[in-house]
Amino acid sequence: MIYSPEKYAIADERMKPFIDEQEIWDFINQTKPTKEWVREVIAKSLDKKRLSLEETAVLINATDPELVEEIKQGAKMLKEKVYGKRIVLFAPLYVGNYCTNNCKYCGFRTTNRKQIRTTLTEEQLIQEVEALEKNGQKRLILVYGEHPKYDAQFIADSVRTVYKVKKGNGEIRRVNINAAPLEIDDFKTVHEAGIGTYQIFQETYHRPTYASVHLAGKKANYDYRLTGLDRAQEAGIDDVGIGALFGLYDWRFEVLGLIRHVNHFEACYNVGPHTISFPRIKDASEYEIVDKYRVSDEDFTRLVAILRLAVPYTGMILTAREPMEIRREIMSFGVSQIDGGTKIEMGAYSKKEEHQDLDKEQFKINDNRSLGEIIDELLDKDYIPSFCTACYRTGRTGEHFMEFSVPGFIKNYCTPNAMMTLAEYLEDYATPEVKEKGAKVIAKNLAEMEEGKIKQNLVERLGRIKVGERDLYF
Ligand code: SAM
Ligand code: SF4
Repeated sequence: MIYSPEKYAIADERMKPFIDEQEIWDFINQTKPTKEWVREVIAKSLDKKRLSLEETAVLINATDPELVEEIKQGAKMLKEKVYGKRIVLFAPLYVGNYCTNNCKYCGFRTTNRKQIRTTLTEEQLIQEVEALEKNGQKRLILVYGEHPKYDAQFIADSVRTVYKVKKGNGEIRRVNINAAPLEIDDFKTVHEAGIGTYQIFQETYHRPTYASVHLAGKKANYDYRLTGLDRAQEAGIDDVGIGALFGLYDWRFEVLGLIRHVNHFEACYNVGPHTISFPRIKDASEYEIVDKYRVSDEDFTRLVAILRLAVPYTGMILTAREPMEIRREIMSFGVSQIDGGTKIEMGAYSKKEEHQDLDKEQFKINDNRSLGEIIDELLDKDYIPSFCTACYRTGRTGEHFMEFSVPGFIKNYCTPNAMMTLAEYLEDYATPEVKEKGAKVIAKNLAEMEEGKIKQNLVERLGRIKVGERDLYF
């Protein structure tokens, strides 16, 4: 079977569902990888070219342990070659957990009477943001259940409130959204509040499974959700995030569903999604999940490596749903963003007590480390923790694409910006030990930089940060 991008360019009309179940199964069932073919596909990805559905199926069907290892090594090489050492940090902030949908996997489902429902008041929202700023966070994703209370105006108002909160040197410089799909005019209202990325996960691309796990409410409409981010694009939001919830259906189908979604965006809007998320189902209050499709750690790490190779220029997000050990392994495959210091119980950031109560949250998280602890570990592992928000604030949207297409982009923009935001964090929030460790990482990376204007400029700016200036970026 030959993949033809032209076929999709013609077939992909905006706002029309684009998943062809039979086509995906044909790729899975009919692609028979040889060693040579798998290596060719890995080499194509290392050459920074996006893989077709068929080529992705080659990697999916390569189950020989030696080839699986080569795929993982390929993902690691791609990360080193392209992404450098940065890992961007963010935190999720749950604004309201009322929900009219009945998604069987989620603790917020409308039938869950045990769930304690709340919506943060403006004052509580401010307290949460202050607590997050006090820890050093600069990037948030606001999360909402789906409910008439959380209309576009409500979402836009909460975004504006968050941007206004300034605690000490703290401020939130980028607010992303994870909420229900909206109508075009409503997306415009949210866009005007200055959001970064709008994320909507399809959960499962398999229509019959979708119907079996979304029992009631607006989310039961597969097509409306699938085309949600097309409406966002029409409204001017060109920074969008897709995702699948792994564990609802065969992971191989979901991986190809995600790649098909990427193709659709490229065909219609000339640019792929900004990020891909791959949450794996975790325990939740009153959730009901068949175990048949649960994804093992082995398959999960493999599928993340495959996704990395399939879409070399798309940001990948890994959350605290996963335990520390899995996060460590997967990070080396080119994850670009992780959350740190995550609390998903409503109002938890500004509370003193530390315990997890499933009836007050959407699902269980498995990496409870503080932002400081995560940064400490990233530094130990030679990463540069970054809070950079420069591209979005200078209008350079689609930055992941630029990282690939503009020679030297990472070297000239991303790495220096990561170093400056790390330097701010070290000055304002780090313990003395982390500050010392971080200073060494900055010095080491500076020493590795080519001499020239950019380095001179960076050294000068790092000096300005030391004496109190903030928010410097290229
Ligand atoms: N209500 C909005 C929606 O459904 O799009 C907001 C999203 S929800 C609060 C964020 C995401 O969490 C969902 O899209 C889903 O993929 C994920 N999720 C839900 N239940 C989960 C569970 N039990 N384990 C892991 N992730 C889960
Ligand atoms: Fe509501 Fe979203 Fe949970 Fe579904 S996943 S029940 S829409 S919060």
